[in-house]
Amino acid sequence: MEASIIVIGDELLIGQVLDTNSGWIARHLNPLGWKIKNVRTVADDSSDIKAAITNAFTETDLVLTTGGLGPTKDDITKQTLLELFGGEMIYDKAVEANVLEVVEKRHLKINPLTANQAYVPSSCRVIQNKVGTAPIMWFEKDGKVLVSMPGVPFETETMMSTEIIPQLVKRFAPSTHIEHRTFVVINYSESVLAMKLDEFEQSIPEFIKLAYLPKPGIIRLRLTGSHTDGSLLTSEMDRLSGNLAAIIGNDIIAFDDMPVEQILGELLKSRHLTLATAESCTGGNIAHEITSISGSSEYFRGTVVAYANDVKQQLLGVDTEILANDGAVSEPTVRAMATGACKAIGTDCAIATSGIAGPGGGSPDKPVGTVWIAAKCADNIVAKKYHFPGSRDRVIDRASTTALIMLIELIRNTK
Ligand code: ATP
Ligand code: MG
Repeated sequence: MEASIIVIGDELLIGQVLDTNSGWIARHLNPLGWKIKNVRTVADDSSDIKAAITNAFTETDLVLTTGGLGPTKDDITKQTLLELFGGEMIYDKAVEANVLEVVEKRHLKINPLTANQAYVPSSCRVIQNKVGTAPIMWFEKDGKVLVSMPGVPFETETMMSTEIIPQLVKRFAPSTHIEHRTFVVINYSESVLAMKLDEFEQSIPEFIKLAYLPKPGIIRLRLTGSHTDGSLLTSEMDRLSGNLAAIIGNDIIAFDDMPVEQILGELLKSRHLTLATAESCTGGNIAHEITSISGSSEYFRGTVVAYANDVKQQLLGVDTEILANDGAVSEPTVRAMATGACKAIGTDCAIATSGIAGPGGGSPDKPVGTVWIAAKCADNIVAKKYHFPGSRDRVIDRASTTALIMLIELIRNTK
């Protein structure tokens, strides 16, 4: 089964808002057997919307749209769909009741613009939007289906999960099974990994594809298969996953699509270890990433953002002599910061960073992008110097990911 997605809104085309709806829809329809054939982004413009829908219907029997359902003049999707599918605008009492309910839940009063949401084309079947005022509209013509959903991600996600996806499954009964397996790999560049997997890739059947998704410090390898025979697909995916694991070995740090901070969290939990960070150039970003994972309080105790030298000295116990002789961006400093963090915060493990994120502050022997990172787990401690290219944000991002990976490797190598 194939489907098209059309996301509607001027704000998407000027880059003011990033489209997250199409990705969410694809991620949720894909495992149910739908292949997303294309995603189009169009303006709040009637002829553009019509052209996109007409085009999409030449390629797929299912078209999903989001956006342009608001009560304001710039939202014109509903009127456009009326012109495309025919019928007339009718006042729907059930929609009115739903809008009233939603508005009351928000402790707001209905106004004439919100009340207008109750007008819907007679050619559609309404799916009541339980979390917003814009009704969801299901159109059907010549065996093809279009579902028009709101632009607000929370509304579309909630309503797709609870109402729309179950109805789509009932209507289309997809016969194709789709499976994804993702592996997070470290210590490889994309090209070196591709060379290592050359023979493996040649052994993959045509209904399974291998994709490389590099990110700074890691590569996500994704096997995607689609087949009408679900059990055949699962056994082939299992076989290939096993082969991949055997070829790459210990450099696979996760068998699921997880961020590095979550991989570290799982590892810390499984070993009953606690973690602190001592951050200079990353300014708390590592702690932020770690705490973005729910449940991180189980292993993360805290951070010291030790930006100034006297903070490194007073809160983390870094020797003033080290700071004077070796400088803040040095191996002895990050080692002392990691040790100091374990002691001050009372943890088994610590990560420490000190570097020059730029764009200013570099020198010939310590250019912008120079970052020392230390990772400590019990009595084991490692430290390494890196040169990260790019802007300040990129240096901080790379340093954070690298530090997390450094601790993952250290813990995995600690028996
Ligand atoms: P509402 O009735 O709430 O106004 P709507 O269907 O009119 O719903 P829009 O006005 O088009 O929705 O968009 C509402 C908000 O949703 C916008 O402010 C925009 O930030 C966000 N939005 C719209 N489309 C997308 C998208 N594809 N991805 C992420 N956010 C989006
Ligand atoms: Mg809009």
